[in-house]
Amino acid sequence: MRRGLGHNRGAGFTLVELLVVIGIIAVLIAILLPTLSKARRQAQLTVCLSNLRQLGGAMALYTNQHRLRFPYNPTASDPAYTIWPKGSFLMSWDALRPLLTRDKYGVYICPSDTEVPWSVWWAQTYGPGYGFTAAQITLPSSYYYPAPFYEVADANGLLFPHKGMQHLLTQVKYPAQKLLFTCYARGIAGGNHLPRTHAWVFVDGHAEIVRYSDVLPPAQGYTAVYTDWTRYGIRGRDVR
Ligand SMILES: [Zn+2]
Repeated sequence: MRRGLGHNRGAGFTLVELLVVIGIIAVLIAILLPTLSKARRQAQLTVCLSNLRQLGGAMALYTNQHRLRFPYNPTASDPAYTIWPKGSFLMSWDALRPLLTRDKYGVYICPSDTEVPWSVWWAQTYGPGYGFTAAQITLPSSYYYPAPFYEVADANGLLFPHKGMQHLLTQVKYPAQKLLFTCYARGIAGGNHLPRTHAWVFVDGHAEIVRYSDVLPPAQGYTAVYTDWTRYGIRGRDVR
């Protein structure tokens, strides 16, 4: 009976065969790596949009339970609690946490963020200039809650610093076009997902990737990355 394919040399590979196999593996890796990295980014984006959807859902519950009012708590022990940047980094997340149905801490972190969540990095880098430190952050987050939801803004979207105000859901005229929360993972507006896009959840609860080119021009000459300066404050729309 013949053994194998009848080679008359010993078992094993020749050097040439080995090199060919190594070459093929190298080519396969070169082909697969970008695909894998793309798949990883896509998975991260999917989780991020799911987080944003959850936070949007929690906000819908909150306004339902608070006579259609957005979070605002000027009687907190810190009188500046509702003034930017605290309102964006503390108040909203504290208010929503009891309403989250799953993963009450993980939902605040985008999987593409670094080990230091964005809000902590921001507070360390820019906070002290505004009397705000990372030590105050109770719920580290990759997401941002724009100031017009709790500050007074004029028709052009110009905010009046240190003038907080409780706004109503009924003031939002375009719920499907009004940004509610955005991802800033790794310090980039829209998060570290796709270039020149925002990962956004809107007031109506739907989350999607929005291209900068689809963002309506913010007031005061700001560019699309500035989500606080949208024209007409919470009454306006942010996308075409
Ligand atoms: Zn993200």
